[in-house]
Amino acid sequence: MSENCLFCKIVAGDIPAKKVYEDAEFVAFHDINPAAPVHLLLVPKHHVTSLQDITPEDAGWLGRMMALAPKLAAENGCNPGPDGGFRLVINSGAEGGQEIGHLHCHILGGPRPWQKRAAPAA
Ligand code: AMP
Ligand code: ZN
Repeated sequence: MSENCLFCKIVAGDIPAKKVYEDAEFVAFHDINPAAPVHLLLVPKHHVTSLQDITPEDAGWLGRMMALAPKLAAENGCNPGPDGGFRLVINSGAEGGQEIGHLHCHILGGPRPWQKRAAPAA
């Protein structure tokens, strides 16, 4: 847990969130300011600031996070098949549009048009 990290506090249950999934490694919850009909944030429970801090040792949990994303998308309203689908976004660093310094994957989907917003869906 990193002090003053919003997502560490959500992981710890100190700040409420609309959680849709939790296991030993990850938590997923609804984005407070959705940019699409489905907008979830998938977050590793351990604190890692951004993809800029990733090393080859992180490949295991990162792979499991990517494998989990389509399951969460399907379970939370993203439509199946080539006419449906979803978008995954991981903003990294200030110039990457990252506002919360705890690595997270945006899962965006649902019928278009989506709300126009500079980040993360642009
Ligand atoms: P990023 O710009 O990639 O760091 O994305 C941060 C995301 O966190 C934004 O889409 C915010 O709407 C979202 N967010 C900020 N605070 C909360 C919160 N308390 N609960 C859920 N989502 C949040
Ligand atoms: Zn954190």
